[in-house]
Amino acid sequence: MAHLSPMLKQATPVIADRGEGAVIFDEQDRRYLDFTAGIGVTSTGHAHPDVVAAAQEQVAKIIHAQYTTVMHRPLLDLVERMSEVLPEGLDSMFFANSGSEAVEAALRLARQATGRPNIVAFHGGFHGRTVAAASLTTSGTKFRSGFAPLMPGVAVSPFPNPTHYGWSQEQATDFALRELDHLLQTVTAPQDTAAFLVEPVLGEGGYVPASAEFLAGLRERADRHGILLVVDEVQTGWGRTGRFWGHDHFGVRPDVLITAKGIASGFPLSGIAASQELMGRAWPGSQGGTYGANAVACAAALATLDVMRREDLVGNAAARGEQLRGRLTAAAREHAEITDVRGLGLMLGSEFRTADGEPDGATATRAQQAAAEHGLLLLTCGAWGQVVRFIPALVVTEEQVDEAGDLWQKSL
Ligand code: PLP
Repeated sequence: MAHLSPMLKQATPVIADRGEGAVIFDEQDRRYLDFTAGIGVTSTGHAHPDVVAAAQEQVAKIIHAQYTTVMHRPLLDLVERMSEVLPEGLDSMFFANSGSEAVEAALRLARQATGRPNIVAFHGGFHGRTVAAASLTTSGTKFRSGFAPLMPGVAVSPFPNPTHYGWSQEQATDFALRELDHLLQTVTAPQDTAAFLVEPVLGEGGYVPASAEFLAGLRERADRHGILLVVDEVQTGWGRTGRFWGHDHFGVRPDVLITAKGIASGFPLSGIAASQELMGRAWPGSQGGTYGANAVACAAALATLDVMRREDLVGNAAARGEQLRGRLTAAAREHAEITDVRGLGLMLGSEFRTADGEPDGATATRAQQAAAEHGLLLLTCGAWGQVVRFIPALVVTEEQVDEAGDLWQKSL
């Protein structure tokens, strides 16, 4: 008998049997409110009937047609429909399967397009687990340790994180931009720097939103030095933050956008978007992959777009996000160990610290596990696992948010 590798660390003992919206039933038919959504993936909810129908229809037509050999209609339709949601000027797309692959695609595009070797990433960023993506990741040593040597050509600069030193957002932003200038003076000269790679909200790094001033500072430096601004929207895209893209909150213009997770309601699909001019600087055949832009995944993405629009899931994420923030803030007021509630839309986290102000992963994990016992599935994040995060499907209802608030109170 073979066993699942112990490399996989399961946050709950649940064996999912079926799902419906923001709810999962296990094999014993026990009901759980799923505020993990497959790590922020199943935005339209589990088994949305329209997504199921689109996928079933496509499965019966063609499952896989390799896109460097023959095209298929779902891909052609998807790339056309993406113009409804992509930022202005980003009118060319390349598709892959996972977030990490899309990060790699963006990294390669940035190097090819600029002819420069180095990438600047930001402290606490998570960009995936392949060797290149892990090299850009600093949200926890578990993603890097033991894999050395990682990819060269990565410099890491501070992300504005006011919670670290009890700073104001302004102080944290000022510090981060000064340190970036220092880095560009001492570690990677602008003419050697291909891209800044940044998340609009640190995800695995602890659900820390960027500031508009920080992203504007990156944009200004990128323009000044011919550096590309690459925005990793793998976790923040597709309505998660209450706007279609996380960077929409900050009014910044990316050169390259990375997307995955919410794009196809759970089917593996990811992509990068850039201008045609920028994409045209990479040579044909330099990127690709056997499974990229799978036909069923593309059909599911088309259905996802329709559902998001018809059910106003971006609006629901904003409204339910505010409701949930209210519940989490109320819980924090009664529990001194929760020192911060933060995030955007339905990407919210509660941070746990000891009385001395140290990140407290142990207490956060206890709360997360108690919640699972009460029927509320949650995950932790942050370098110490000190943040319990709440990322339900964007179809989550008012009643379900209230129920989750009650269960969270009980778990503390
Ligand atoms: N980038 C960000 C911001 C992510 O949150 C993740 C995954 O959580 C990734 C990249 C990597 O995506 P994947 O796990 O699909 O490779």
